[in-house]
Amino acid sequence: MKEIVSVQNCSYQYEDGTEALKNISFSVRKGEKVVFLGGNGSGKSTLFLCMNGILRPTRGEILLDGKPIAYNRKGLLQHRSKVGIVFQEPDNQLFSASVYQEISFGILNMGVVKEQAHVAVKEIMEELEIMPFQKKPVHCLSGGQKKQVAIADVLIMSPSVILLDEPTSALDPRHTKLVRRFIDRMVEKGITVFVSTHDMDYAYEWADKVIIFKNGERMALGKPKELFVQKELIESCNLVQPTVVKLFQSLCQHGILTREKEIPTTMKELEQYLIGEKEKHSE
Ligand code: ADP
Ligand code: MG
Repeated sequence: MKEIVSVQNCSYQYEDGTEALKNISFSVRKGEKVVFLGGNGSGKSTLFLCMNGILRPTRGEILLDGKPIAYNRKGLLQHRSKVGIVFQEPDNQLFSASVYQEISFGILNMGVVKEQAHVAVKEIMEELEIMPFQKKPVHCLSGGQKKQVAIADVLIMSPSVILLDEPTSALDPRHTKLVRRFIDRMVEKGITVFVSTHDMDYAYEWADKVIIFKNGERMALGKPKELFVQKELIESCNLVQPTVVKLFQSLCQHGILTREKEIPTTMKELEQYLIGEKEKHSE
């Protein structure tokens, strides 16, 4: 698999002097599922804004498919159609009065003809389960519905990369599940998906690659199983270990399970381990 996104020695300083990113580097291959972690103010959103081209790194470079972002009108328009961003706060994303106008805006702007846009909007509204509230004005939608529309805004552009900034942070369990299903579908379509989140359980189950930030610095990069067993690292970055990892380590410490076993990925797997132990003892 070849690298689709490459961030090289990127720093970003806001006008008030805040150094939000400090010499960040990493690469991601096509189709990799990437999670950004880190406490509030660690630089996750700033990096997403740089990756989408909204902010230009003060130092360093961002490459898409091996080519640096071109910071001119045409280059940025093109870049943003390939790298879509879903903001944490949908009100920062949605500008049109109606759901239909909102979703069609991007492709009409790219020069797609009306009839073709109509077909595409209908298709995306069905896929993202927007049809039941498509007639409502955008400002009357619930937070979850706004999130669905914000995702449609991005997906309709057929991007190769999607950045989702804390996509489920304000959602109820039903919408959280719905958004996660949409994310899985993006991955199935071959889109490279970046998610920033505070949900360690989700990061643990979902991600191929995890990048941890603290105070604008990259503190760690690796597979969730490699990083999340390191209690001190995780806690020093203002995070907590995933529930299943914490419980597994505690059960090992108490001699109920042994560390020879592969660390479980899900609660279901851990449950199976315990049932297995019980059966072994009752033989
Ligand atoms: P995260 O998304 O991880 O919470 P951010 O990227 O939003 O982190 O913020 C990183 C740092 O940049 C924080 O110290 C924050 O206060 C600062 N910051 C964010 N936006 C601005 C801005 N527009 N002007 C000045 N500082 C900002
Ligand atoms: Mg943020």
